[in-house]
Amino acid sequence: MRPLYDPMNVRNLKIPGAADVRALYDRLFARYGPQDWWPGDSPFEVIVGAILTQNTNWTNVEKALANLRAAGVWNFGAIRSTARERLAALIQPSGYFNQKARKLHEFAALIENDFHGNLNGLLDLPMDELRTGLLGVWGIGEETADDIVLYAAGKPSFVIDTYTRRIVDRIGWRVDGEAYGNYRSLFSERLPADAALFNEYHALLVRHAVDVCRPTPDCDACCLVTVCRTGVERTGR
Ligand code: SF4
Repeated sequence: MRPLYDPMNVRNLKIPGAADVRALYDRLFARYGPQDWWPGDSPFEVIVGAILTQNTNWTNVEKALANLRAAGVWNFGAIRSTARERLAALIQPSGYFNQKARKLHEFAALIENDFHGNLNGLLDLPMDELRTGLLGVWGIGEETADDIVLYAAGKPSFVIDTYTRRIVDRIGWRVDGEAYGNYRSLFSERLPADAALFNEYHALLVRHAVDVCRPTPDCDACCLVTVCRTGVERTGR
């Protein structure tokens, strides 16, 4: 088996056009169908889930969410009035629970102080203003902010995660830098600003990275193999 394609060799990388980015989506959708993501029944659950899922898997997040729900800590007012130590104990299954308890408290303080306790007051902001506001909250990074913008507010901000970076790098698309924003603009500048499309696209990339484009990729079983430089090199197709 040949080695993985080297994404750092920029001479070999392709600058994708809008048609390439859309074609990738079409291939994934044809292979996997609709993903019905995100697992959350309300904006509150989506936001708390987005914060708790940092550096852990969703199974652990579900345990923490179940603890919060069972304890009646199920809105940001309740989070704000719950002592830090108790909050940390409730979300312990998600790991990094002291940091995450602070993040939840900081988020709850934003809602209370700037929006009079009305979460929709935040989520109804114009997208760029909302994203900037989220990034101003302690512990909220770009991926978490985009999760919230897209899945809680329903606004078209493309989410980048390690799965997306892995697939883009292996396919051989040229990204003008390693920063989050470079990967994000690769998608957002080539697709219509459509929250439903961004939602489905991200979910499909996650599905593909979990099922096929794993750390050791199964290129022979991959629906992208003929448009992927790594796949072509590894399979000879
Ligand atoms: S062919 Fe598919 S599985 Fe293989 S590296 Fe490319 S995207 Fe990943």
